[in-house]
Amino acid sequence: MAVKPSLRELYIDELKDLYNAETQLVKALPKMAKASSGDQLRQAFEEHLRQTSEQVSRLEQIFHDFGEKPTGKKCLGMDGLVKAGAEVMRQDYEDSLMDAAIIGAAQRVEHYEIAGYGTAKAFAQLLGEEEHVSLLEQTLNEEKEADQKLNQLAEDINSRAQQEGLRASAEEHGRARSRRAA
Ligand code: FE
Ligand code: ZN
Ligand code: FE
Repeated sequence: MAVKPSLRELYIDELKDLYNAETQLVKALPKMAKASSGDQLRQAFEEHLRQTSEQVSRLEQIFHDFGEKPTGKKCLGMDGLVKAGAEVMRQDYEDSLMDAAIIGAAQRVEHYEIAGYGTAKAFAQLLGEEEHVSLLEQTLNEEKEADQKLNQLAEDINSRAQQEGLRASAEEHGRARSRRAA
């Protein structure tokens, strides 16, 4: 009979999942940057892309330590989140509304990563992998900061999206009125 997987194996599996999730993001983040209208939002995605490449390297470092390859797993959760983000970007939204929608999709990604790194860090702690704990914590903090940055950008962007909508419906109203007057 096969030996049942241990916590260590589950830990390695979680790390592979995170590695695959991050590599999916290396491809998705440039698309989100490109779809963003606001300079600050675009720069935030570009900055997080740079961090994401470092996060990939940190996971590679951990795997190097194990003498294992980080490949061989597909993160289905991130696959779904990336697809949901792509669907958002296909919508016919005005600039700020699109930015607000992209932020919504991006924050789901960050929260998903925060959950994954939190789990992996707890396992590393239990397994006495102090080096890993510190690497995972650095990434975890970057994910939290990215989420906070998006919260901060959303304040302005959401109200701009609301005003954009009000302006558009006022114009629509004006057009309807002049049609009636003609
Ligand atoms: Fe990440
Ligand atoms: Zn996953
Ligand atoms: Fe992230």
